[in-house]
Amino acid sequence: MDPKVEQFMARIKAKNPHEPEFHQAVHEVAESLIPYIEENPRYKHAKVLERIAEPERVILFRVPWINDKGEVEINRGYRIEMNSAIGPYKGGLRFHPTVNLGILKFLAFEQVLKNSLTTLPMGGGKGGSDFDPKGKSDNEVMRFCQSFMTELCRHIGPNTDVPAGDIGVGGREIGYMFGQYKRIKNEFTGVLTGKGLQWGGSLIRPEATGYGAVYFAEEMLKNKGDSLKGKVAAVSGSGNVAQFTVQKLTELGATAVTLSDSAGTIYDPEGIDAKKLAWVMDLKNIRRGRIREYAEKFGCEYFEGKRPWHVKCDVAFPSATENEIDKENAEALVKNGCMAISEGANMPSTPDEVYLSAKILYGPGKAANAGGVAVSGLEMTQNSMRLPWSREEVDSRLQTIMKNIHQTCVDHGTQSDGYVNYVNGANIGGFVKVAEAMMAQGVV
Ligand code: NAP
Repeated sequence: MDPKVEQFMARIKAKNPHEPEFHQAVHEVAESLIPYIEENPRYKHAKVLERIAEPERVILFRVPWINDKGEVEINRGYRIEMNSAIGPYKGGLRFHPTVNLGILKFLAFEQVLKNSLTTLPMGGGKGGSDFDPKGKSDNEVMRFCQSFMTELCRHIGPNTDVPAGDIGVGGREIGYMFGQYKRIKNEFTGVLTGKGLQWGGSLIRPEATGYGAVYFAEEMLKNKGDSLKGKVAAVSGSGNVAQFTVQKLTELGATAVTLSDSAGTIYDPEGIDAKKLAWVMDLKNIRRGRIREYAEKFGCEYFEGKRPWHVKCDVAFPSATENEIDKENAEALVKNGCMAISEGANMPSTPDEVYLSAKILYGPGKAANAGGVAVSGLEMTQNSMRLPWSREEVDSRLQTIMKNIHQTCVDHGTQSDGYVNYVNGANIGGFVKVAEAMMAQGVV
């Protein structure tokens, strides 16, 4: 390891103990940025990287609520307001039992650079709770969301901090939280994104992260004179991002052959076509069932407890969660001839050096999945104008943003041998705008 990166990471680890995901995310960025900052010493003197790695504010609170049996339950709520140099804090809320401070700090840190890449004026934040919506009734989810928002509403606002969804937070949860915010504050504002279409939401917001990851893959392939048409795709997860990734892949002529959840993976070599996908959407979004049921319904293979990465594919779209591809999985993908990875999830690949040394196309999450927050930004714009845009208008803006992000990565990440290192490209491209804004605003 570069000794400067090592020294920097030693300080980060000492100051943020027991937060391995945060260390991992900062380390990956430091490896790209420290050599760049050495060449641009004014960032070094202003300690911009050190400041970016320190949240502006961390809010931690108790979320008490009552379950259907009349018992008191207590969860922990968080909001990390990481950086507001280029706009209000912006980033999702995650409800999952694994949520802790370190995971949310990693996500908030990534979000700062991602939001900068979108070209829109959004700072970075992230939040959530260790609450598990799985197996809870709608009424329990509502009571939890209301209690969560009763505290969170003091800290957020349309010009301060605008949360959205993430794992475990979809349209239902955003609705309950928006209702409670409106009730307490007595104002109808764009304080959350991912809202329903009848009450301030944007067309294409649910689709945006998945569509964006596919547009990003298409751009990477186009840059090599290729396209997604005819390609076989492995997709993980079966939630919001995975569903719309499969939909856009099919529209562009690729064949998605896998989906997964935390219990296992289905492998359908004939492809998850529009009809099967509609069935998955009903299973996951309405009936809230398990992906195993797909194999029973359509008669394909189900791998209990396994992820999809051993399946032969041309392109891979990790769309479930962090660290879902370990070194062995990454090597299996490369060995099986996978030519491109576009990350719908945040930090799904533990070992990105496997892809980089094999010189395959590798779009890291902060670039490839920025479509979701980009359309959240467009939802904020529409809320400010009090005018909704058409589906075509939002989709065309999303495509332009993904093309621009791709170009930024090419501009900052092309190596002397012509290989585009999208990790360096995204880290440096995202950093420069935030760093310049921070320098202009003084030591705050
Ligand atoms: P979601 O709708 O809740 O779906 C999450 C999917 O991942 C589910 O299939 C879930 O399976 C699986 N999963 C979650 N935790 C897992 C674990 N520890 N091990 C294995 N599988 C797991 O969430 P989502 O919005 O699609 O988010 C997926 C990823 O995309 C996350 O990394 C998120 O941060 C990232 N992302 C989302 C957005 C967005 O707009 N939603 C934007 C940018 C990035 P189970 O049902 O079994 O838990």
